[in-house]
Order: sequence, then structure tokens, then C-alpha cells
Amino acid sequence: MGRSGTLDQRPAWTREQLSEALGESALRLIATIAKRAHAENIAIYLVGGVVRDLLLERENLDLDFVLEGDAIAFACKLARIYGGETERHAPFGTAKWKLDSAAISNLSLGSEAIPAQIDFATARTEEYPAPAALPAVEPGLIWQDLRRRDFTVNALALRVEAGSCPWQMLDPGDGYSDILGKKIRVLHAQSFIDDPTRIFRAFRFASRFGFTIESSTADILHAAIPMIQRLSGERIRHELDLILREKYPERIIADLSELDIFSQIHDSFLIGMRSTGQLKRLREHMPQMPGNADDIARLGWHLLFSSIAEDDALLISARLGLTGDLSNSIAGFARLLSKVDWLGAPATKASAITRFLDGVSATALRAALICNVDDHAVKERMESYMADWRHRRTTIDGNDLIRAGLAPGPIYREILDKLRGAWIDGEIESGEQERELFLKLVKEAK
Ligand code: ATP
Repeated sequence: MGRSGTLDQRPAWTREQLSEALGESALRLIATIAKRAHAENIAIYLVGGVVRDLLLERENLDLDFVLEGDAIAFACKLARIYGGETERHAPFGTAKWKLDSAAISNLSLGSEAIPAQIDFATARTEEYPAPAALPAVEPGLIWQDLRRRDFTVNALALRVEAGSCPWQMLDPGDGYSDILGKKIRVLHAQSFIDDPTRIFRAFRFASRFGFTIESSTADILHAAIPMIQRLSGERIRHELDLILREKYPERIIADLSELDIFSQIHDSFLIGMRSTGQLKRLREHMPQMPGNADDIARLGWHLLFSSIAEDDALLISARLGLTGDLSNSIAGFARLLSKVDWLGAPATKASAITRFLDGVSATALRAALICNVDDHAVKERMESYMADWRHRRTTIDGNDLIRAGLAPGPIYREILDKLRGAWIDGEIESGEQERELFLKLVKEAK
């Protein structure tokens, strides 16, 4: 760890070390913010993940500031002076300052990476009216703000001061020792009862940093597991989504599954080795796969359901408040997995497969491919569908049916569907053959 000793033995960074860790532009940005806070006579701190990651020597430019003062007014002032937009959340006393190109130029920042937005929060105390409920918050001091946090390693703050380095580190839970000892530890025994989302967070951070959950923290975590039932679907969904974006999601999912945490979300939410193996496969194939982090997380969501029947998948999706689009896609994925034997059977026609897969989303198909890489017949058919069958179109359309004197109705779809199927199954191979079949079908329909 790049640091020099301070009175309280906590590390402190010289300006050069900070510049190396955060980049000169980000450091200049922090210094400007510190100067403005000084002018306003407000104490301001960098908090949470960025301080933890400075100690861990991990790159992190998510700048979260806590002020003993009005964070919203402060962010608005910065935007007025330097440009950019603010997004304010009055009930929480927080604001985001979004930097645009004018602000970047006014702040004279270099070409190095800088965060696109910076978070400001008023230091606060929290009180939980009931287990797993959202807390009532009130303005407070930095120490109180740090004590309400999830883990000691996240309850760290750096007091940033205009022009002077090193900055003092505040560490009420001795997170520094826990970083050295590689431990995830809560700040008080009620922590998981107050907020059971911290159960998910504990495993997520432990996996990311290769830490273990300290033993008394593990004890109170285990005791609080039933509290997960009280969490809103939205809060659980958010945590699972963050987990699916981690480097090794399958390990975190396996840890949670081992403690039967998924069944607390919904009785039927059973995650087996199957899902964790597939998530691992997804991760291993990620570098070759097209798509951004959102696409990969969406695929991950599907794989969580690979041992779950369609009806249950819909119930679990409702519990988690998944969007209609994602929920339908996952239901299609479950339906698809239930038909794998039929898909691979030699007697199943390509046209029937196409009709079935046309009702399944592209993501569900990609997820099903990950699940069936070893079943060559199924894999080949799904790939043929994606590369070829689904693109097949007839040359004849509804206008030809009108011209043939057929009364409009469901029969139109049936005939066009049969013609498309005949192309896909190789029963017709030319426009002439298509017309012959068309005339035969029209005659039958009349
Ligand atoms: P990441 O590196 O994943 O962004 P982070 O530590 O920055 O992680 P955030 O979720 O962005 O975490 O939250 C910022 C800070 O807010 C955390 O470091 C922690 O101190 C605090 N925090 C977030 N969620 C909770 C929670 N559920 N309970 C208590 N404190 C929390």
C-alpha cells in the first residue's frame, strides 16, 4: 500500500501518490471541490468505495462526497460556477453533479479519465422504523454517517482539504485493520436485521476482494437470513443485478444458494449447480461474446432460472418486480429448456422448430445455447434457426391471396405459414414450386 504513517497509524497519501492512484485530472477536480467547500466553510469528505479502493490499490473513480452541510445547495453551486447539470434527491439530501464538456473545459481538466458524475450527500444519521424497512434519515455529522454504513471497510472517509496533503483518514470501525486482515465485518450486531440487502452485499464484496466474512458477522448474517422475506422485490433485484455484473458471479450465487437464500426470496427459486456452472460458462465466453455489460447481466438473469419451470419463473419474476420484457423473455427461456428433447429429436421438423422459436427472445435463445453447448443436435438446430430459418420469407404475400379470391381471415396466416414452412423444410426450392403449392392450398381452402 502506497502510504506514509500518521499519528493514528492510518495510512495517508502524499499528493504524488494520490495523483498516481486517481490520475491528475481527478485529483485536480477533487482539489477544486475542496477549495469551494473551504470557501463555504463546509467540511467535506471523500467516502466509501473510493477510499477503500485506494487502500486496496484498485482503480475506482466513483467519487462520493459527504458534507457536513447542504449537499444539494453545494452541488448546485458547483454547477452554477463551472457548468454541468445536477440531479437532486431532496428526501435523501443527495445530489449528482453531471459534468459536460463545458464543465470539463471550465475546470481545466486534462484528457485523463474523470468521472462523468460526482455524488454529494449531506452527512446523516439513520433510524430503522422496522426491520428491512427504509430508514428515516436526519442530517448529522461525518462520524454518524460512517457508523450507519454496511461494513467497516466501506465506513472510511478522507477529509479533503484545499491545498494540503496528506488528508486525514476517518475510520471509526477500524476498517483499515479489516482490509489488512481481508475481513468483511459489520459495524453493529443489528446491521443485517436493519437492512438484509447487506447479506447480498457481504458476499459480493467478499468475493470481489477475496475476503472472508468475519466469524461473528457470519453468525449474525445467518440469523438474519429469514429477514430477506421482508425485502421489497425491487431491492433484491437491484442486489442480484449488481452480483451478475461482478467478475465471478457464479461464486457469489453459489455462496448464497448454499445458505438457502434464494428460497427466502420465493419458495420455488431453487438455484442448482446447473445455474452456477452456466454462469461460469457465460463468464468464460464473455470475451468472445458481442454485447455490453447490460446484455451480459440480462443473460445472467436468464441462467438463474435454468432449473425452474415456466409457471414458477413467472411467479419469481413478479416477486422480484422484473420488467414485463425481461419476465416474458425468462418465461420463454424456461419453455425452451422444457422442450429440449423435442428440439433435438430427428423427427422434429425445422419448420416446427422455427414456429416455436419465433416466440422466444434472442436473449433467451443465447442463454439456452449456453445451457446446451454439449448437446450437438440441439445446438446445431438452434444455430440453424438463428443463422438461417428465422430469416426465411415467402415470395407470396397477402396481396396474392386477395388476388386469388380468398376471403380474408385466419386462413391467410395459415397458408403463408405453410408456405414458409415448406421453404424451411426444403419441400420447395424455387418460386415456381412455391406458386404450385400456393395454388394447391388456395384450392383446398376454397
Ligand atoms: P462498488 O464498488 O460496488 O460501487 P461501493 O462501496 O461504492 O461499491 P455503493 O453501493 O456505491 O458501494 O455505495 C456507496 C457506499 O454507501 C458504500 O461504500 C457504503 O459505505 C454505503 N452503502 C451502500 N449501501 C449500503 C447499505 N445497504 N447499508 C449501509 N451502507 C451502504
